[in-house]
Amino acid sequence: MMYEIFCYLHPAELLAISRTNKTLRGVLLRKSARWIWQTSFRNYKNMPEPPTDLNEPQYARLLCDNSCMFCLSPNAPLISWRARLRFCKGCMKTEFIRITDVHDEEDAILIRSFIRDRIHSVGELYSRAQVDNFCAGYNRVRNDEAQASAWLTDQLSIYQRTREVRQRMATILCNKS
Ligand SMILES: [Zn+2]
Repeated sequence: MMYEIFCYLHPAELLAISRTNKTLRGVLLRKSARWIWQTSFRNYKNMPEPPTDLNEPQYARLLCDNSCMFCLSPNAPLISWRARLRFCKGCMKTEFIRITDVHDEEDAILIRSFIRDRIHSVGELYSRAQVDNFCAGYNRVRNDEAQASAWLTDQLSIYQRTREVRQRMATILCNKS
């Protein structure tokens, strides 16, 4: 019964309810509750399906919760679709870098080609953690042509999926009306 009611709620409401107490958190965040979120997303037709690397609660968190994923400050209007991060202006200064901060020329070229992101009203900006992961991943394969090529192909397909989500999401505001 409770589950059926949940299905009629907006993902933002499900997210809020999952935070009210331990019981409801347990109910909504277990794997077998995915269908509730999926139904909720489907009921709000403007909301595209989550990208494959995010589950529904994570996706709702990114879209509907205005708090910063780093410092939890309530006003975090900035979103990096590529890094799946929502953040505030303060954390932008500590957690993100510009391409000019990358001093290795080869790394800079690859970063711009494979994890490029433009953040609304801010421009091109890269999550530090993501840049570190990307460079570490590339370093592991860079001396082997076949591995490097497979790895970059993989990165490119993730990038294309991100762009698609980003374009679809660009105009959607997550309000309940
Ligand atoms: Zn912050």
